Amino acid sequence: MVGALPKYQTLMGHSSTVIMPFYHGKFKSANKFSTFFSGFARLGHSNLAFNVLKLKDNNLGYELILIDIPGLFDRENVYSYHDDTERFITFQVAALNWLKEREKTPDVVHCHDQQTGFIPFMMSKVREYQRFEHVPTVFTIHNGQYQGQFGFDKLYYLPPFHSYFNGLIEWHNLINPLASAIKCAWRVTTVSPSYLDEISYSMNGMEELLRTERGKSLGILNGIDSDVWNPATDPMLEKNFDSKTFEEGKKANKAVLCSQFGLDPNKPLFTFIGRLVGEKGADILPSIIYDVLHYKPGEQNILILGSGEKVIEHALLQMEDHYKGNYCSYIGYNEKLSHLIYAGADFLLMPSRVEPCGLNQMYALRYGTVPIVRRTGGLRDTVTDIGDQGFGICHDQCSTTDVSHAIHRAKLLYHQKRIFKKVRKQMMEIDHSWNKAAMDYLELYQSLKL
Ligand code: ADP
Repeated sequence: MVGALPKYQTLMGHSSTVIMPFYHGKFKSANKFSTFFSGFARLGHSNLAFNVLKLKDNNLGYELILIDIPGLFDRENVYSYHDDTERFITFQVAALNWLKEREKTPDVVHCHDQQTGFIPFMMSKVREYQRFEHVPTVFTIHNGQYQGQFGFDKLYYLPPFHSYFNGLIEWHNLINPLASAIKCAWRVTTVSPSYLDEISYSMNGMEELLRTERGKSLGILNGIDSDVWNPATDPMLEKNFDSKTFEEGKKANKAVLCSQFGLDPNKPLFTFIGRLVGEKGADILPSIIYDVLHYKPGEQNILILGSGEKVIEHALLQMEDHYKGNYCSYIGYNEKLSHLIYAGADFLLMPSRVEPCGLNQMYALRYGTVPIVRRTGGLRDTVTDIGDQGFGICHDQCSTTDVSHAIHRAKLLYHQKRIFKKVRKQMMEIDHSWNKAAMDYLELYQSLKL
């Protein structure tokens, strides 16, 4: 979202700047940067040096500002370190310290997830940042399960503010950056409308706060980068296609895919792509494979691409020998293969327990692969069941029975060639680009103008 939305905002004639930590991953080694500002960020009793960098040849379509804090972000992973609290508070302080020095005051500041959750509070209640007191803030919840809470023993990490405002950073006796953002941001958004409804009754103990702040909250469905995810131009496919030529196109991609994994291209191909974790319902994949291939052998093929919890990876790999020729899994992350699967598969399984927005189903729709989704979050907002004049297959529970039944319905659809073709054509023509979401965000920003 942070990579795509600003690009569309620029196309709409607005300038947007993305500020993020300078993670030392692939992006760092693949690009050149220049340092143009250096400063210090106070964290408790320490003063940490930071540098602000820009991309040298920026063709992203928006300004990208990277904050390099030696010792805190020069690591292999983005998060899940023991000192994430210290890392992200320092990042937020450094970002505001730099912003404070910039001549132009932003019209609006839009923050994402708990890692930036103190920004709305600091902008409005910390004297040091008084300059931003009247700058509107928008906060987007991408995943409400991760809240970043910690004890009041670390209160002194935050820049000084009047203790009168302690309640604005607190939730259930802990300092909670997500709660603080929900309380202090001028507007709160979620990445789909249904996800906003769901977190009002299930969000790790923060439901009540969501309900209290409901009046300033709204759900805006994310889009997909339709330049990258376009089957007509995607360089990772065996054969490109569009909504008129998808039959031959998908057939060619399916042939390559099936020969790579020893599957039969004449059978309906069911796939799963994603993190192998409970949130995605990946733990029930082994029992789905067993249920479908044991009781209906020879009727379908299944292909899984993903990585995650070792116990799921192990179970998936273990079943391969037993169902050879009907099922295969690729454990690992493989971008090219994912594109080929979206293009060559017939159905994509998404039995997710939680799906704030979900991108896979939108890629699948664009590539003519019928999504089979659990009705939750963004999946509910983007996929309509064929029984309701729609273009996908929906089920209510994240359970083997529900998914097996959905697979049964999918096979019936697959064999009704004329209807199958009509459904695929219809779904490929849906516009899931960022245009609509970018417009919705723009309207939201403009409604906050003083
Ligand atoms: P998440 O909750 O993981 O962010 P999303 O649906 O928002 O889920 O995005 C997942 C993205 O990651 C999709 O673009 C999907 O194609 C991609 N992806 C996930 N796992 C893999 C993998 N093993 N190999 C290639 N791409 C993957």
